[in-house]
Amino acid sequence: MDTRSKANELISINPATGQEIARVAVTTPDQLDAAVARARTAFETSGWKDLMPHKRAEVLTAIAAGLLAEKEELATLQMRDNGKPIAECRGMVDYAVGTFRYYASVCETLETEVTPRRGDYVSFTVLEPYGVVAAITPWNSPIMNDAAKVAPALAAGNAVLLKPSEDSPLLAPELARIAAAAGLPDGLLQVVQGRGADIGAALVAHPGVSMISFTGGTTTGRAIGRVAGDRIVPVALELGGKSPHVVFADAEMDHAVAAVAAGIFGSSGQSCVAGSRLLVEESVYDEVVAALVARANRIVVAAPDQKGVEMGPLASFHHRDRVHAFVERARSEGGEILCGGSAPEGARYADGAYYLPTIIAGLSADALSCQEEAFGPVLVVLPFKDEAELIRMGNGTAFGLACGIWTNDFKKAWRVGRALEAGSVWINTYKQSVTSTPFGGFKNSGIGREKGVDGLRLYAQVKSMYFGLHENPLPIAK
Ligand code: NAD
Repeated sequence: MDTRSKANELISINPATGQEIARVAVTTPDQLDAAVARARTAFETSGWKDLMPHKRAEVLTAIAAGLLAEKEELATLQMRDNGKPIAECRGMVDYAVGTFRYYASVCETLETEVTPRRGDYVSFTVLEPYGVVAAITPWNSPIMNDAAKVAPALAAGNAVLLKPSEDSPLLAPELARIAAAAGLPDGLLQVVQGRGADIGAALVAHPGVSMISFTGGTTTGRAIGRVAGDRIVPVALELGGKSPHVVFADAEMDHAVAAVAAGIFGSSGQSCVAGSRLLVEESVYDEVVAALVARANRIVVAAPDQKGVEMGPLASFHHRDRVHAFVERARSEGGEILCGGSAPEGARYADGAYYLPTIIAGLSADALSCQEEAFGPVLVVLPFKDEAELIRMGNGTAFGLACGIWTNDFKKAWRVGRALEAGSVWINTYKQSVTSTPFGGFKNSGIGREKGVDGLRLYAQVKSMYFGLHENPLPIAK
């Protein structure tokens, strides 16, 4: 979105050029009511929820094929909509394809669980969809985040109202179009567009919505959780992080430094799992920080479609303002800016929302800059003396999304990995992501797990059924 946007439309701006790409009409309250009613009708009458799982799987597989067939177009659209380098955007389309394929296979195997026969009855559970799911996504990786919710929610038999961010509204309608062409019954996947504070809030409060799945900032997640609590509807929250990336003195330094840089500067830091807090064992602190600064200064900041680009612009101009304000606050907290801290200079950067890879040292662990998410290419670095101090610092924020640990001592890796409060722990790697492995946060980083079998269960409620098999209707009481 751009400041030029009006109440009834969103203007998508290419952050690499500052030029308008498209205008998107905002969903009105009446249209929202109609979309919820249509989703409810589709859920009740389309037969989707009662289809044999392998039939639902066929449609999900066809959606995957549809996405793959348009990989280049979708990747280019996402690149223009939010500025990520084209190679990253292609990877995200692949990820979305894999997500639909994965849930096609999982929905075939996860229908019922039979408990052993006990006496004169048999009991078993069935998974039932909730009905209409509100899926609300952020702007940083639209096609991937949309697929992470839509695929399992449909696999479980629900209808979905997908609300993308006002800052990246272009991919969700493409996904809905591809799903319809793949044979998804009418009304089961609809897109609502608009700002979070109005259409987003109206969606989560809508009495026709039976489950809410949200990915975004912790403040928004808290507000949505309050509404869900009042309404007593299930809510899944995938929120922010300040993930510690830990380097011990016995690590393979070249690998560690490369991964720390990729972990924070990949996607220009606009990743929920960005390793934005580097904790380095004191004895190698100077060496690691010097190597990182050298690496950061070599990062190729360029237009997202340029060959060799490593960091594109930030997703919007107002987000760049936020990131810069974060850096300025870090400076006022006593931080020393070791590199970056501003937009790059030069004519080729003049029209885009570019920002340099930034490393900040000299802060105390409880400074706001070490506690809050920048959601940009900003790394704070802190030394630690021993494991006890590391764990105290590592767990010393409100977040608990992810962490990385670099050491060649596997027992230490295990110990520290168990002690750190994080939903994902990467040891001698970072930011790896597998569709079959659950993902989610501890503490203020969220509630619930996406991906994997857990990601399907999120969208289904368990019904327990008992069948009496005896002449006597209450054999237990006899
Ligand atoms: P945001 O919270 O501002 O917005 C996310 C979505 O919520 C948008 O679609 C927005 O329109 C909507 N929204 C805003 N207020 C709302 C309200 N009151 N009711 C209903 N909907 C509302 O977040 P953002 O700036 O788009 O995204 C960045 C954040 O997302 C970061 O904190 C990042 O860490 C987080 N994130 C988390 C994950 C994860 O999986 N844990 C993944 C990606 C991003």
